[in-house]
Amino acid sequence: MKKGIVLSVAFLFAVVMIMGAAPTTAQAKVQFVTIGTGGITGVYYPTGGAIAKMVNKKRKEYGIRATVESTGGSVFNINAIMAGDLEFGVAQSDRQYQAVKGIANWKDKGPQKDLRAVFSIHPESVDLIAAVDANINCLADLKGKRVNVGNIGSGYRKNALDALEANGLDYKKDFHAESLKAAEAPGLIQDGRIDAAFYTVGHPSGYYKEATSGVRKVKFVPITNIESLLAKYPYYAKSATLMKNYPGAVNTEASVPTFGVKATLVTSIKVPDNVVYAITKEVFDNFETFKKLHPAYEGLTKESMLTGLSAPFHPGALKYYKEVGLK
Ligand code: GLU
Repeated sequence: MKKGIVLSVAFLFAVVMIMGAAPTTAQAKVQFVTIGTGGITGVYYPTGGAIAKMVNKKRKEYGIRATVESTGGSVFNINAIMAGDLEFGVAQSDRQYQAVKGIANWKDKGPQKDLRAVFSIHPESVDLIAAVDANINCLADLKGKRVNVGNIGSGYRKNALDALEANGLDYKKDFHAESLKAAEAPGLIQDGRIDAAFYTVGHPSGYYKEATSGVRKVKFVPITNIESLLAKYPYYAKSATLMKNYPGAVNTEASVPTFGVKATLVTSIKVPDNVVYAITKEVFDNFETFKKLHPAYEGLTKESMLTGLSAPFHPGALKYYKEVGLK
């Protein structure tokens, strides 16, 4: 009888322990992080997926569960990270620079002191595509046309406006500017509702595949007269977009001249070191596997992924770079 009571008390105790303690232990173990990306036909979206995949493979070891969110792009991502709504985001190198300095979109808010760099990723070029029937062969030909310059939260909107300004064009006066999210533009070109569209993205991208494979013929328009931009802004460099990626484009030349930036991974100083360390380590320790996850990563080297950044490195990333001698 007595033994029975002792046993049932012990049993009850065990049940209480399991019911009470187990869920809290499990909760404490898993840290959920979200990576902000861009439109689903861009390269940020699969990039967020590639990074999440690397760290989620070791879910048991790190207790981190990374998920990906499609967003309006670079400016949205930086602002959402600063507001604590996202832990990580992909952002153009020029946007990272502007946020750190408190210029352009951050002129009123001031320098984003908590912004931290993790690593840079693929190169992105600023491109303009136009329907062949709209007769647009250079930026000056955009006069009077319907042109997408990009949504407010995007990184590429400012690149479009800079390119236009360098060519003496004012988007408010010289043509009908649309502020569409990138993912919408290819369909609207095909439907005849816009004539041309800017976008800054890595290659190859689903966006240009979609834009160049419809019935309405589309071409890449060279972006020239950019010397003033290259002189004025440290983050812009000359680049060329390879046409072999887009056999549906009407262009016959091998590449189309333009300028470009880099995609980068950013976070906040408020994100714990162990989380940033784990993401950095998984991408770099499994670099060859990571590189195979998207053709835009073809030219990446570990060293190149530590360049093009203007925010200070997050301490979690820096810890890894020091361990392996990259810093
Ligand atoms: N660079 C673009 C932007 O920030 C996004 C490109 C992408 O999603 O790959 O607006």
